[in-house]
Amino acid sequence: MMKLNQWLIQRKLNPKRVYLALLALFALVFLIVLIVLTTTQDDDKIYLVENAEIRTGPNAGYPVVYNVQKGDTFKVLSRSGKWLEVISSKNHQKGWIAGWHTNLDIKEDVNPDLKPLKNKTIVLDPGHGGKDNGASSQTAKNSHEKDITLKTGLELKKMLEKEGAKVVMTRKDDTFVSLEDRKAKGDAFISIHNDALASQNANGATVYYFHKKQAPLAKTLNASIQKKVLLSDRGARQEDYQVLRQTKKPAVLLELGYISNPTDEILMNDQNHRYIVETAIVDGLKNYFLYE
Ligand SMILES: [Zn+2]
Repeated sequence: MMKLNQWLIQRKLNPKRVYLALLALFALVFLIVLIVLTTTQDDDKIYLVENAEIRTGPNAGYPVVYNVQKGDTFKVLSRSGKWLEVISSKNHQKGWIAGWHTNLDIKEDVNPDLKPLKNKTIVLDPGHGGKDNGASSQTAKNSHEKDITLKTGLELKKMLEKEGAKVVMTRKDDTFVSLEDRKAKGDAFISIHNDALASQNANGATVYYFHKKQAPLAKTLNASIQKKVLLSDRGARQEDYQVLRQTKKPAVLLELGYISNPTDEILMNDQNHRYIVETAIVDGLKNYFLYE
């Protein structure tokens, strides 16, 4: 210390002043670090202003994972529209929450009377038709895929129109339409099919997309179908189908059960079952357009 004082005095510096200046500098750096630390922590830590639900995806169509209480805190991992992907401070579980339940300034602009499908154009594409039966069942019923997809399409059309949507059909009757002609301008494109395999065991519903930006619609519709429908969950999957590839719009290809599975075949021929499937599709589309 004495040596340092002497060294400073030799350089005509007042040791007291030098120490004070150093002290002030340290204090300033400490303060800056403190401010940076606290503000970054506030940025991704949020709390709930009311009780809410954590869901598996970023809209109300996804299933609830667990319920959370007012005051619970979370770290934000990502954001999709007005929804936040969070991890709970309490149990470290991940999930999605609507931003308007949190302390963040996110407004729920959704009026429950609002019809999110109003004036949206939905293209419905009942698979196969005419000379192309699609898949057929092996049972005495001998169901053809082309008949079931048309029934589903026509029933879905009526339900979507009730929601204020405009519906364009790629076919309205038992006619053959080529794959390249299965396109029309719209806000979403839904191709309707039934699966088949040589084995009778395969069953369930699959929702296909091709372009990456079609994935959110596929996941939303798959979640909605699984919430309501009695078909096992084969998930939302990416596949290079021409009708999906040839459109840049949100588009999905629905495989609504296996016509080769006797149980699925009974279901798809049952109007009540189809009504539940169609309701799930309408609900999924509403959720998708509500938060897009
Ligand atoms: Zn098909």
